[in-house]
This record gives sequence, structure tokens and C-alpha cells, in this order.
Amino acid sequence: MTRRSTTKKDAIHYTIRPADLALHLFEVTLTIATPDPEGQVVSLPAWIPGSYMIREFARNIVQIRAECAGRKVKLTKLDKHSWRAARCDGALSLHYQVYAWDLSVRAAHLDQTHGFFNGTSTFLQVHGQESLPHVVEILPPADPDGSDAYANWRVATALRELKARRHRFGSYIADNYDELIDHPVEMGEFELIRFDAHGVPHEMAITGRVPNLDTARLSADLKQICEQQIAFFEPTTKRAPMERYVFLTMVVGDGYGGLEHRASTALICSRNDLPVKGQPSMSEGYRGFLGLCSHEYFHTWNVKRIKPAVFAPYDLRHENYTPLLWLFEGFTSYYDDLVLVRAGLIDEKTYLGMLAKTLNGVLRGSGRLKQSVAESSFDAWTKYYRQDENAPNAVVSYYTKGSLVALLLDLTIRAGTQGKRSLDDVMRALWRRYGRDFYAPKLAGAFGKGVTEADIDALFDEISGLSLKALLDKAVRGTKDLPLAEAFAALAVSMTPTSKPAKPGLEVRTRKEGSDCKLASVHEGGAAHRAGLSAGDVLVAIDGLRVTASNLDATLARYRGGDTISPHAFRRDELMTFSVDLKADSVTQYAIDARDKPLAGAKLRKAWLKARA
Ligand SMILES: [Zn+2]
Repeated sequence: MTRRSTTKKDAIHYTIRPADLALHLFEVTLTIATPDPEGQVVSLPAWIPGSYMIREFARNIVQIRAECAGRKVKLTKLDKHSWRAARCDGALSLHYQVYAWDLSVRAAHLDQTHGFFNGTSTFLQVHGQESLPHVVEILPPADPDGSDAYANWRVATALRELKARRHRFGSYIADNYDELIDHPVEMGEFELIRFDAHGVPHEMAITGRVPNLDTARLSADLKQICEQQIAFFEPTTKRAPMERYVFLTMVVGDGYGGLEHRASTALICSRNDLPVKGQPSMSEGYRGFLGLCSHEYFHTWNVKRIKPAVFAPYDLRHENYTPLLWLFEGFTSYYDDLVLVRAGLIDEKTYLGMLAKTLNGVLRGSGRLKQSVAESSFDAWTKYYRQDENAPNAVVSYYTKGSLVALLLDLTIRAGTQGKRSLDDVMRALWRRYGRDFYAPKLAGAFGKGVTEADIDALFDEISGLSLKALLDKAVRGTKDLPLAEAFAALAVSMTPTSKPAKPGLEVRTRKEGSDCKLASVHEGGAAHRAGLSAGDVLVAIDGLRVTASNLDATLARYRGGDTISPHAFRRDELMTFSVDLKADSVTQYAIDARDKPLAGAKLRKAWLKARA
């Protein structure tokens, strides 16, 4: 089949303008030069790739109207996110407003201080014309009182400039709709940090006030992480898969999250997680922020180019079910921290401590015994992304357990091949076969091939030279705990139950409500469960002494295993009394430590954690 050649004139055109900052409204105009003669259908995505939940972004469209050659034409709503315009002989234009007041990386946000949007929230998809070039003109806020209040606003995005200078308002272009919605845009008076990673320009735009931010340290640390990953996937050429890369960081008082894109990422972080000038120690918060950057950056390869088959292409109207998020999220979670140790940003002891924390967290949820990571991947849309109070007892995280699966496979391959092969080789093979050419020009308008479950199983055996099918079945499609202690032993790493008797606790998660202590979830088999306490109960006293959100731990610390306590709690505003037998923690927790012996194992461990760039 031949593709008709296209010019910029055929392109789909959008303009987007922050129209009312106080009402948080973007105004968008979409112009279609040659609309479908049967009546053009347009729609807004129901979800944003990378965040596997139906979000129905079209509910934020406040007003929409259509014009054909300047005259109003009828627009018929087809379903919750689609419209059909009446037949139109000339150019069809649609005008609509988007309400943007979601302070997350997934949607759009606008006020007097900045604007942020994802294309999935703002740009209607023109059905049948998705493979045309898409041009978007990004306009500054109107300035009705002539105060020049927005004169210093700039634009940060990985979209290519068409008629715009870097960081300026103007027109930008994407090869197709899929690309258009994969480049979020930030506008405002952000701080800009720049560095090169293996010759490719990188930048981080930081929105939100951060006193005494240590920009030199941040840029040096990010460079290490990015170069480490570029060299990981392309050890010979050290060629990055994008021409430039942009981290869009929104700083808030308390927040954490990120969403990956093909040449950028949108991040949200807590102010106090960012490094302060003159304070060179590695805080837990900063380590977490670097881990987040590392995670989203790794996705540039793993999920933005190496993709599950059902994401090539995405169906943006419905859930896209895949049993493989354990690989795309879990393996990315494994490598995000591993890159930090390989880049020399954290040491071996810290890294093994972080692995222990992940392991102990996974062991705390009995959901792991009921749901495999393949099932959790498939049901992400209704379970992992829509967790309720029962989640710890019903759902396993394909992030955390998925990262342990990656760890198990990596250790197993390293031990089984005397260090000749590793999970790194499997990732590089995935990259060469599926990822490297995913957006290659010869595939323009079409898409590269995604990966299936069978492809992965076969690839593991082929690359490692081992028979890993049984282990994969057990780890990925089974619900038994992973045989990590044995795998660690081969690399001279011990995994031992923590010896100190754990403090007796209720084995609950709590949530602060005012000063009240509310049970957010009750862990199956724990003391609270055995006594009949329930998620939602507001704990008010233990043995007649008041309990608040801030003193629960201190109150419980006065008791020992074997004691019986009598908590009072409100349920539906009725006071109830319980009797709880405190025992030592019902869940075994582990410490993970490096050993000197066996010598061959210690050598394998060194190779596992060593730098590559
Ligand atoms: Zn991720």
C-alpha cells in the first residue's frame, strides 16, 4: 500500500493558549484541512500511556463547538469521549476549552504560576488522520492589563520546534498523533539545568520555589545516571535513542511521582528531597528522587521502545491488557536503583539495604500469595491502579515483586553462566530486536513490533543458554515466594531473618485524619485482624489511654509479645471494644548483607554492581 505524500499544509493544526489562569482553562483550536467527507470523528484518549487506568480525560472539556469554513456546524456526541462533526467541504475547525486543575504528571494543570499539559488531556485525535504530521502552536497567556506579568514565561518540552526558538512560545511539530501526545509541555518561570550525556543535550526544568537548590550537584548526578543507562543499552556506540531529553520537574511540599515519555519525563517531587547547596550528604529523600529520575529515564528504552505487543499501537479508547507489566515496570524498578550503585552514587551496603526493604515490603502483603505478577499486570486497570483498603491482602505489586523477579533472574543467570551472561544481556537483546528501530523512519505511520510473553520466555533461554522456563513460570505466573536466599548465596550475599524479636504491633496501616488514627488497612493474619478490627475503624484508646495518629507507635511500645490489650475504636460512630493478643510480628523480615566468601561468588557480586560507563 502506498502512502500519499504529505506536506505541512495537510498537517493537523492545533493552537493552545492558557486562556483563564484563575479558572484553570486552556483554550484549544484544532484545524483539519481535509476532514472525513462522511463527517469527521474526533476523540480524546480515555487513558494516558504509562498510567494504566481509565481516566476519561474528555470530562474536562468544558465547551466545544465546530466550524466549517467559518460557519458553525453541528457536532454530535457519540460516546463519553468522541464527537462527529457534520459534513464539511472546506477546513473544519474545533474550538474547545480544557479544565486543567490536576496537579499530577498525568493530566494538565494551569494557574498564575505555570501551565503544564499532556497531549492526552488537550489534543483531540483526528480519526483516520493520525499518521499525518501534527503541528501545535503554543501561545503565551493573554496579558489584558498590560502588566507583562508573563513576559518571562518560557516553554520546556521535547517536541521539535517548527517555528519557535528553544524554550520559546511558537509552533512545534510531531510526525504523528502518537508522537504528539508523547511530549508533555511545561510553561512558566522554571529554573533550567543543562548537561550533556554521551553527547546528547539533556535538561531539567524545575517549576516551584526551591531555596538554595544545589543545581551543580543535581546536574552532575543526573549526568552519571543518564550516561550509565545509555552505555548499558549501547555499550559500543554509546548512542542515545533520542536527540535530546527533558526532565519536567514540578516541586511541591509533599509529592512523588513520574510518568515516562519517549524523550522526556514529567516528575513531581517534594521540595525537601532536592539537594541543598553546601550539604553534600545523600539524604534518603534525594536518593529517592534520583531513583525516580533513573526509573523514568530507563523507560526511554523499556516500555517507550521495547513495548508489549498490545501497546504497538496503543488503543487509547479502552484498557490495553498485558500480562507483562512485571517486565516493563518491575525490571525498570530493578534497574533504577542498580544504576545508582553502578554510577557510584550509593554504595553496596546501601544498595543491599534497599533490596531488603523492597523484599520485606513484598513479604508484608498476603496478596502476593493470591495473585501472580502476570495477573497483577493484566488487572492493573482495576486492581493495582484502584487499590482499596483490601489491596495488601489481595494485590501484589508488579513493581516491587517484579523487581525481585528481575533480581532473581539476574542472580540466577550470573551464577549459572559463571558471570558470562546476565539479565543485562537479555535487556540488550530485547533492545536490539524490538526497541532500537521502533520509531525508525521506515516505519513512519506504522509501528514497530511489540513483545509477547512467549517471546520473553524464549529469549531468556536463548540469551542465557540456560533453561529458565520453570523458574519464569514460578516467579512470574506463580504465587510462591521467590527462592532468593539460594540465588543470593551464589554471589556471596546472605539473606538472614532479622534476629531481634520484632516489636509487637497491630499489623495495620494507619492514616492520619485530623489527630485521629484511622486504620487504612488491616493485614491478613496480623494481631488486628485476629481481634476483629477493620479498615476504617478510628482507634481512640488502648487500655483506657487516648490514642492519636502521632502516639500509636509509642503507646504500643510499652507492651510486649504475649500481652493482651484492649483497644477502643469507633466504627460508623459506634464505640466498639476489642481484645488483641499481641504477638511478635507474624511476618519474617530479612537482612541482606555482602560476604567475603565464597571468593568466586564475591567476584560475581563485584561484576554485578560495577560501573559500566
Ligand atoms: Zn515506571
